[in-house]
Amino acid sequence: MSVDIQALRINGVYRQNDNDDLMLRVKIPGGLLSPVQAEAIAAISERFSNGILHLTTRGSIEFHWLRIEAIEEVGRMLAAVGLTSRGACGGAVRGISCSTTVAPGFSVAQGLARRLHRHFAGNPHFEGLPKKFKISVDAGYNGARHLIQDAGIVHVATTEAGELYDLWVAGGLGREPQPAFLFAAQLPEEQLLARLEAIVNIYRQHTPAGKRLKHLLREIGEERLRELVTAAQGDEVPVLNRGIGFNLKVTDVQEVVEAGIFAGQIASATLRHFAELARRYGNEQLFVSADQNILFFPAGEGATANLRQGLTALGFAGARRDEQVNFRICPGDHQCRMGLSATRDIAGRALDVLPDAALGLTFAISGCVNSCSQPQLADVGIVTTSRRAVENGERQPRFALYRRSGEGFGTAVATELTEEELLAQLSRIA
Ligand code: SF4
Repeated sequence: MSVDIQALRINGVYRQNDNDDLMLRVKIPGGLLSPVQAEAIAAISERFSNGILHLTTRGSIEFHWLRIEAIEEVGRMLAAVGLTSRGACGGAVRGISCSTTVAPGFSVAQGLARRLHRHFAGNPHFEGLPKKFKISVDAGYNGARHLIQDAGIVHVATTEAGELYDLWVAGGLGREPQPAFLFAAQLPEEQLLARLEAIVNIYRQHTPAGKRLKHLLREIGEERLRELVTAAQGDEVPVLNRGIGFNLKVTDVQEVVEAGIFAGQIASATLRHFAELARRYGNEQLFVSADQNILFFPAGEGATANLRQGLTALGFAGARRDEQVNFRICPGDHQCRMGLSATRDIAGRALDVLPDAALGLTFAISGCVNSCSQPQLADVGIVTTSRRAVENGERQPRFALYRRSGEGFGTAVATELTEEELLAQLSRIA
């Protein structure tokens, strides 16, 4: 059966390879899952995929190796637990990522993220865009994820009148990384959605197909973009749906127990066990973090110790190097057509050579310049930039190595590295 890729994209589906194996990405609102939702995802993976899931840096989850015949049923199984893949790929408002560092204010950020998800996800008014449109909500500036969004919302204050947010606009990575700029400071929530809608509409009207908002910004500049957005806002101020979505009650986080998932790859059976742990000892929530780990929020007496014990029994005692290191990856050429390198394998080999002193740093590797693992925001970032022919006729990847020290993006400190040269550099990382 030939696959109409374009038609499938808006439903969160990409073609993985020439054999028409498919990837489907499910939006996890704010990265928070209930145990029932986690079990449904595990069931889909076991029935239609290979029992292995990929956690993304935006708090979503990807199934790989699906066949076209499975897509409808997968959609039904997701809908049955209040999840959707609609708009997870293609020209749409993508999944709302949220509070990736679980900073104080997590519940405020989660509440907003879930209201935004309900407003934008599957809403045809926000589909048919020139390219993807990414929104994040963060509780504070830790992690700097606001810099890489089309609209990055940062909770900055709680006042008697309500919550206040900074709005950053037109950021993105890819071939031409560009940090977002501060579009408006200390906005109340009521004014936020009007701005967001206007920005999405201006993006749709003024940007050529295939280009992100950052392209429009480069073309017309900050001042003109502000003028257009102000004019597009009109008098009507939309009001966000105040209900928390999908029966998940988001509370302030007092304590976190983290399971380090190396390279964002988790078996469906493990996810099932995690769901049970969250049910028994947590607040019935699992959080997919931007570092591609799973976080639990202990609830009740002795819950933290019980969670740790449960994780240890599942092989997550936190003692292995692969659990301790924070190494984000994209699927690379394991599962992505754009991939120029075997990211997961290289991350594994990098782990073998990293000095112990470097394990506290954050690492990220991307299989191409699209930079889905956000290497420019890691302490040590690796971007696969090309494949070069070598003597025996094979083509081998070349890498750029990034280091980040300030508040902006990391910068390339070495380019055109072979894997051997890359590993040599990593073995000396301080
Ligand atoms: S960075 Fe490139 S290889 Fe990796 S997932 Fe994104 S598009 Fe695919």
